[in-house]
Amino acid sequence: MKQIRDKSFVPFIEHNPLQDRIKALAQEINKDYAGKNPLLIGVLNGSFMFIADLFKSIEIECEVTFIRVSSYQSTESTGKVKQVLGLKEDIQNRHIVIVEDIVDTGMTMQEILGQLAAKQPASIKIMTMLFKPEALKVPLKLDYVGFEIENKFVVGYGLDYDGYGRNLDAIYVLKE
Ligand code: 5GP
Repeated sequence: MKQIRDKSFVPFIEHNPLQDRIKALAQEINKDYAGKNPLLIGVLNGSFMFIADLFKSIEIECEVTFIRVSSYQSTESTGKVKQVLGLKEDIQNRHIVIVEDIVDTGMTMQEILGQLAAKQPASIKIMTMLFKPEALKVPLKLDYVGFEIENKFVVGYGLDYDGYGRNLDAIYVLKE
């Protein structure tokens, strides 16, 4: 068990199965993108550890870069506005794989997808380490999923609770 701030977390996905699954995802990229020079776009902060391990197991010609999503309350409407920041590369006519730590409601990914698709890439696919199908609120096609998990709060392997726990080398779930 791990104590992070005021909460207790228990092991959920151990280090080795996580590593095996990431290697398998890398093999899929090797197969699907040979000769296409894909650009992997990691979503910070949560995806940094996942994408580092994934990238090490990719054997084809491939590039990596990162974006960040800022979220702020709009004065115009009731909803939150999400803005994709930090993309320096020209992605027009490139093969893009967005790499996320976790898809929960899917709203963040839907926004990223819309903003990147507007830049006219040759293709755009989504990879996520974790996916909570029960929490999904928007239609979203996830092309590569590490693990489907229950609708519970998880930390570790890049994912945080209140800024902490990202350094854990496995996934832990909140103890209820
Ligand atoms: P969505 O827009 O899909 O609801 O949420 C996406 C973001 O919410 C993720 O990138 C992540 O930052 C955060 N998130 C969703 N579920 C969890 C979770 O179980 N644990 C942690 N640490 N973050 C989560």
